[in-house]
Amino acid sequence: MQPRKILVVDDSKLIHKMFEVLLRQYALVHAHDGLEALQCLGSDADIDLILLDINMPRMSGLEFLSQVKANEALKDIPVVIISTEGKEEDTIRGLEAGASAYIKKPFGNQELLEVIQRL
Ligand SMILES: [Mg+2]
Repeated sequence: MQPRKILVVDDSKLIHKMFEVLLRQYALVHAHDGLEALQCLGSDADIDLILLDINMPRMSGLEFLSQVKANEALKDIPVVIISTEGKEEDTIRGLEAGASAYIKKPFGNQELLEVIQRL
């Protein structure tokens, strides 16, 4: 069986490296802002889940999320917001915009794996 594919969208290189280690059993696709993430979704039809940062250059996570949810072909892909502490407002807006879950930075490895497995 092919490993499940996760699109990681974050402008922090450290986060990408961390997810490579933590999520070894998944196939990861990497994007560093919302625009690049939309391009990835356009060229890769079998993304199973999206891990999404909010604050990024060019296109923010919330803008990316609203575009995904407005797209008939993409709207059912679960999106997990990876939010920075103290940004509850963004998290609430993200959930209202259709995110399936959120994880607060800094997060526990177990918490992350549980949310991903659940979705
Ligand atoms: Mg960021």
